[in-house]
Amino acid sequence: MFLAIASMPLLFVSDLTFINYKKSLEANPFSQLQDLTIFRADRIEAYFDGLKGHIEVSQGFYNIKRNLPVLTRLADDPGNPKFLDAKKMLDAQLQQMQSVSDLSDIMLVNPQGKVVYSIRPGHFLKDMSNGVDAEQKAFAEGKSRIYFSDVYFDKIEDNRFETLLTAPATDFNGAFIGVIAFEVDMTPVYKLLQNTTGLGNTGEVLIGKRAGNQVEYLNPLRHDPNAALKRKIDIGNEIGRPMQEAVQGRTGSGLSTDYRGKKVIAAWRYIPSLDWGLVAKIDTKEAFADVTNLRNLSIALLFIIIVLSGITAFSIAHSISEPIKQLSEGAAIIGSGNLDYKIGTIHKDEIGQLSRTFDKMTQDLKQTLASRDELNREIIERKQAQEELVRSNKDLEQFAYVASHDLQEPLRAVSGFVELLRRNLEKSLDEKTHEYMNFSIDGAKRMQSLINGLLEYSRIGTQGQKPQKVNSKEAFDDALARLQAAIQESGAKIAADDLPTVYFDDLQLTRLFQNLIGNAIKFRSDQTPQIHISAFRQDAGWRFAVRDNGIGIEPQYAERIFMIFQRLHTRKIYAGTGIGLSICKKIVERHGGKIWVESTPGRGSTFYFTVPDIEGA
Ligand code: ADP
Repeated sequence: MFLAIASMPLLFVSDLTFINYKKSLEANPFSQLQDLTIFRADRIEAYFDGLKGHIEVSQGFYNIKRNLPVLTRLADDPGNPKFLDAKKMLDAQLQQMQSVSDLSDIMLVNPQGKVVYSIRPGHFLKDMSNGVDAEQKAFAEGKSRIYFSDVYFDKIEDNRFETLLTAPATDFNGAFIGVIAFEVDMTPVYKLLQNTTGLGNTGEVLIGKRAGNQVEYLNPLRHDPNAALKRKIDIGNEIGRPMQEAVQGRTGSGLSTDYRGKKVIAAWRYIPSLDWGLVAKIDTKEAFADVTNLRNLSIALLFIIIVLSGITAFSIAHSISEPIKQLSEGAAIIGSGNLDYKIGTIHKDEIGQLSRTFDKMTQDLKQTLASRDELNREIIERKQAQEELVRSNKDLEQFAYVASHDLQEPLRAVSGFVELLRRNLEKSLDEKTHEYMNFSIDGAKRMQSLINGLLEYSRIGTQGQKPQKVNSKEAFDDALARLQAAIQESGAKIAADDLPTVYFDDLQLTRLFQNLIGNAIKFRSDQTPQIHISAFRQDAGWRFAVRDNGIGIEPQYAERIFMIFQRLHTRKIYAGTGIGLSICKKIVERHGGKIWVESTPGRGSTFYFTVPDIEGA
């Protein structure tokens, strides 16, 4: 398809060039033939004009005027010295003229038609008035004017084509004394005509004459040497039209069919002085050989160009389509999921670049997928670990709950009985044993409070309420009520901003405030405790802050204090179990929030916790 479209302009241009060139080539032979007819006709006319000039000169010869009557008179007595003298005189002059004019003979004819003088002895005393038609007519016409006879074949003497040129001879007074006759050999004329220069292998020049309703060819033809005077065509016949035109006085050129029935191109013209027609012709096949050659050459060239451009187009198309095919096949393979496939073309063009980009893209995609798979695997692992953690936390909670719950009873019994023992034996015990007894009771009490703390810690998850709308101000107030004794004892000043409504387990919120405010009072410095509670909107939730002016916390302990049983002080300085903040942490995290502390040791601490807006988060 591409080739067909690409060849169209090529075909168009070559066709146009061919047509133009063909026209000029076709016009060429016609003008050449026309030139040839002009040239040959001129030469023939010049030849015969020359002969005519010679006969005119001879008409004025003294020699003829004087001697022709003598010869006429003594023709029957050729041995007469006078006859011989006269002949001798004439010989001297006319033989020279014969050789100059290349005539076959010069004859003088007496008024009766008898040849009384001839250079060639054979013509002597021949009776022209009784000879062949041409001779009779030449003699008859020559009596009154210069006349060219028809061409005739002299089979008696010379066995060749001849023509006669006759003219009247007169005496000194202008009286008719006979006829001067030049016998003209047609051979030089035929030679002139038969010269095939410029006529190739088939061309020729012909002369013809009208004879009644026919045309008679006057010269031997190239393809028919015996044509002269024998070959004739009827006027009106399809064959030999150029000659028919020429003998009828017309001049021209054109295509025609010649006497052989072959197509020819011809030029023709009429020679008025001889009343002849002249035709130059050449076979169309040969004349247009250049055109044919050109056409063949054009076709061959076109064929070569088409084949070459076909091969080029095919190889270009192949070099383009093959990588595209590879690319599309590769894309299909990669598309089916085989990311290890490489198109791997070495072409340096745009398609090659595209293929390499494609390969790189596949590589990147593979890596991306690999890292995605990695990520997915990590997520799944984390999820599993988280689930594991939740489950083990639950197990732990359960265990802590069960353990602390079940331990409570025996512990209560131990501490109850030790107390009873102490009361019963109070008076009989020595100081040392008394002290030991007190240690035991303290230990049991402390263990009890640790177990209670643990129990409370484990209950946060298992026995907590579902979060619901709760006014944090109320929780805060409840916490203060519970801390009343400590507040009074320490003289703490506690203030709160407007506190929001949040989704929370209300008891746990109270517990949260209670623990944080309780710590703020407990870990006070020398100054009167100043405690401030506030809440800010932050990230779709609330951020609470409990600020105090207590002893503060060293930054390295900021995380440790939220772990269970972790304390920074001995019981003697600050009482406590180290569970309070871990309970806070658990409560906050259970509601989807975070808890942390910011502090400057000696200046006070601020405990922050967040509460998301979403119910049950
Ligand atoms: P406890 O209060 O029973 O010691 P917590 O878990 O409540 O246990 O507190 C852990 C530790 O954190 C405390 O022992 C204390 O050292 C430190 N702490 C807690 N609150 C404050 C505070 N407001 N100021 C200074 N230190 C504090």
